[in-house]
Amino acid sequence: MAGWPAYSGATCPRCGAFYGPDPPLRPPPCGLCSADPPSFAAARSLFAYAGDVRAAIVAAKYAGRPYPVRAVALRIRETLAGQWRDLIPDGEPPTVVPVPANPWKYFRRGFNLPALIGSALSRRSGFPFDPLALSRIRGRVPQARLPAVSRRENVEGAFLVPRRRKVPAAVLLLDDVYTSGATADACARALKSAGAASIVVVTVARAVP
Ligand SMILES: [Zn+2]
Repeated sequence: MAGWPAYSGATCPRCGAFYGPDPPLRPPPCGLCSADPPSFAAARSLFAYAGDVRAAIVAAKYAGRPYPVRAVALRIRETLAGQWRDLIPDGEPPTVVPVPANPWKYFRRGFNLPALIGSALSRRSGFPFDPLALSRIRGRVPQARLPAVSRRENVEGAFLVPRRRKVPAAVLLLDDVYTSGATADACARALKSAGAASIVVVTVARAVP
């Protein structure tokens, strides 16, 4: 992943939308966040979902190819300690919670990429790791096949916190790709309704137009 260029331009302070290389000094929230703020406090992504970054994720998820899990986790940890420092408040470290795969996909692939990266991130950052904080109760149509308007409906109520499970106050929700934000928002709502106070979303890649 040496040639993977991390995005370094300005972003929406809330959802992390990429604004491009010539940003205003203090970029305002994007139109979507202004109209309908998400349930999470903030989201950030390392890379644009394109080129080698996209190819590696697709090859891992759909063809079972090896993925540079540890290198990506290290990059996330470094960025959290630098450019994204303000996302992690001092005090209690956030608990890393991966977005769960739908059970059928998990069974077929034998792994969940966000959980592998989350586990590696936890080992490298010292943040607690809780891969069972969220359950996926519905899979339905893969998000990748849907337009943005349908994505929200598709994941509505798809995630829940198992009953009697204690949810950490501060959560670092980890996913591989951020597309419309519908999945992250549905997870954040489930975590909040189970008692989580603050949710920061980190994804490896972000879909770009
Ligand atoms: Zn935004």
